[in-house]
Amino acid sequence: MKTVMKFGGTSVATGENIRHVARLVTQHAKEDCRVAVVVSALAGVTNSLFEIACQAKKSDTKHIETVTQELRQKHLEAISTAIKSESIQKEVTEITEKTICELEKVLTGVCYVGELTPKSKDYVVSFGERLSAPIVWGAIKDYEGETQCFTGKEAGIVTDSNFGEAEPLMNYTTHLIRERIGPLFEKGVIPVVTGFIAANQDGIVTTVGRGGSDYTATILGAALEVDEVWIWTDVDGIMTADPKVIPSAKMLPELSYQEAAEMAIFGAKAMHPRALKPIIEAKIPVRIRSTLHPENPGTIITDAQSVKSTGAVKAVALIKDVAMVNVNGANMVGAPGSYAKVFEVLGKNNINIMMVSTAVSEANISMVIRRNIVGRALSTLEIALLGRGLVSEVTSEDDVAVVAVMGANMKGTLGIASKIFATVANAGINVRMIAQGSSELNISFVVKEKDGAAVVKAIHEEFKLDKI
Ligand code: ADP
Ligand code: ASP
Ligand code: MG
Repeated sequence: MKTVMKFGGTSVATGENIRHVARLVTQHAKEDCRVAVVVSALAGVTNSLFEIACQAKKSDTKHIETVTQELRQKHLEAISTAIKSESIQKEVTEITEKTICELEKVLTGVCYVGELTPKSKDYVVSFGERLSAPIVWGAIKDYEGETQCFTGKEAGIVTDSNFGEAEPLMNYTTHLIRERIGPLFEKGVIPVVTGFIAANQDGIVTTVGRGGSDYTATILGAALEVDEVWIWTDVDGIMTADPKVIPSAKMLPELSYQEAAEMAIFGAKAMHPRALKPIIEAKIPVRIRSTLHPENPGTIITDAQSVKSTGAVKAVALIKDVAMVNVNGANMVGAPGSYAKVFEVLGKNNINIMMVSTAVSEANISMVIRRNIVGRALSTLEIALLGRGLVSEVTSEDDVAVVAVMGANMKGTLGIASKIFATVANAGINVRMIAQGSSELNISFVVKEKDGAAVVKAIHEEFKLDKI
């Protein structure tokens, strides 16, 4: 059997966790299984890097030193528990010291220049995976696994230059991965690849978006034509709702690619939204499973035909960190191309729209976007559209969340929407915006963020998702 195993931040949070991961990997590798490993940064490290990157442009070099020393300490501690052999420890420590030193220089550069471009931000946040992968590599070596460490760039993942959300050039990437990783992998060597980070055609570091290690894993899985991609995480699989919001949520043993895509797109953190893309055509199954309970098979995501049907609604997700942007203008009514204008302005400025709703009156478009880009979206729309007669007002609401109710059998089932909205109304909660795609697999709506968890709970109960 051939697999790519991806370990998320929580699975490599500490040295102890990393040792556990190395044990899992080497055990599987011994059972006549070819394994390629993809690793995330240690839990919390990517967030710290984003923070320090943003602060660096205004902060003093002393602060940079404090943060890099904290990161150094965290990784050295992990090395000392994850790896027993002194010589391997020494080898990994040297790599870590060198990497931290480079990070400090990069941040100092940002500090002196006083500017953080999307390009330099990607470079800074790439250090999380560059620090974690060598430790996992060392721990596997400690368990006598034959292994080799690669950055995404070294592995051959080449993307466009859309820093922060880069897209792989799949044909070229597949060719390079097969050339660089393929022969080792076939020989039984365990490649350890940094998730999340890649490079553009000029070799400049890019990242494939938050949670991107999942994407790295499926890119690698497709190129290496593996039998399954395993996403190891801190929950038993994909559940009927986020278990951190609904403790009684149940594990879903099987999902179709289409259902999983609906869930991932709607930000159920469990998986990167584009991660299924590379493996759907080749019909490579993805398994989400827990490093805490490796005896459980987890959720398998496969081709639709083989998935057994259950109730109409399968899961409900809550997506926070979003904002709603409203564009109003009486002159949009009956004016062909007015919506296109709004979307074009946002698209040209790399602002991704997660959800759209318009009324037949045509005088208003509501859109949901990530909250961290709402300022940019407002200014872009104002500059391009206000004062030109078409649009009279652009407003936003930041304190909102999206609730997404999904299930393949919702398609054509009558009464689902009325049941959902009656449930929300009975909870005394107001709905701000609604969208149902023509796929009918998903009904999404916007509520105030403070009401989000209560809505998810009410819907989970109404559809008896904890009883499936
Ligand atoms: P990792 O660090 O392994 O990539 P993430 O934090 O990205 O982990 O994703 C796992 C988390 O996703 C879980 O801890 C859980 O809280 C959250 N989550 C949200 N919705 C779901 C869901 N429907 N099923 C499972 N997990 C979910
Ligand atoms: N470390 C990256 C992030 O936190 C990628 C990942 O964990 O998948 O977004
Ligand atoms: Mg993740």
